[in-house]
Amino acid sequence: MQAYSLIAPAKINLYLEIIGDRPDGYHELAMILQSIDLADRIDLRPNGTDQIRVHCDDPEVPTDSSNLAYKAAALMTEQFAEVYRKFGGVDISIAKRIPMGAGLAGGSADAAAVLVGMDLMWKLGLTLIELQELAARLGSDIPFCVSGGTAIATGRGEQLAALPSVDFLYAVLAKHRSLGISTPWAYKTYRQQFSSSYVTDRDSLLERRQRVHSGDIVAAIGQRDGHKIGQCLHNDLEKVVLPAHPQVEQLRQILGQFETLGVMMSGSGSTVFALVESQAQANQVQQQLQAALPDPDLGIWTTRLSAHGIQLAH
Ligand code: ATP
Repeated sequence: MQAYSLIAPAKINLYLEIIGDRPDGYHELAMILQSIDLADRIDLRPNGTDQIRVHCDDPEVPTDSSNLAYKAAALMTEQFAEVYRKFGGVDISIAKRIPMGAGLAGGSADAAAVLVGMDLMWKLGLTLIELQELAARLGSDIPFCVSGGTAIATGRGEQLAALPSVDFLYAVLAKHRSLGISTPWAYKTYRQQFSSSYVTDRDSLLERRQRVHSGDIVAAIGQRDGHKIGQCLHNDLEKVVLPAHPQVEQLRQILGQFETLGVMMSGSGSTVFALVESQAQANQVQQQLQAALPDPDLGIWTTRLSAHGIQLAH
């Protein structure tokens, strides 16, 4: 059986709106998710045992059954128990490039790569929809990570509608390496502070879910209008994360002083990104930020927006 290497791109949120609570305990969301070139690399190799083993070049990433890549492999062994009995377990090696606890869906991207890779390795021939159904059982962002590109995500984030690509744009990502923000904490805090404004009846919820499709940012994406996309960036979670984490607020303010298309926090943070028009402009913003905030803990990455989800590595 063949080994496979996959590229697992991170995502940023161009738009994140919290609409209300769902009966399943999750939030009803309207998001625009965007893949970026910054990616982990996942190597999958049949290991001739009955085990799933995870290795990672970053010692901070857990390699036990709490790793989302492990969980994805375990789900595949449960779903396809006969194939698993025939072919055995898998070694998963993660070359970690996506910062952790960053709001960039690093763990979700790894899990998506394992689903896609094991489908290939075991020659299952799953459709994209089947892969995304499995992905949704593991986490809300994982179906998007499978297909990637630019998409509207509604429900708890698993209902996807593809949008035209905006891979002509670039982003500068900035994050304090030592500051990771827990996504469950951010949503829980938002609920504590803002649930009085939640839409509660089902019809209004569905109407709000639909509204994003005709919103300004979707129109701007359709028109390939980088300036308008930059003006429409939005993230409700900033309302709870910025007051609680002054370092994120400071990054947001400093990046906001430079010439960019727009600045926003991604997901639940702690990454703040600036959208720009070219690699040259990204490099310039990176230099300006380094000069304004010479902090060894500050990580800065420049990246292009991507039209791709999980891909085979060459
Ligand atoms: P999201 O944007 O989806 O909320 P995030 O980028 O904020 O995610 P991750 O980097 O995915 O957060 O990791 C959050 C936590 O998940 C980490 O603290 C880590 O312990 C755990 N984790 C499990 N599997 C992985 C993985 N493969 N890569 C990174 N972290 C993982």
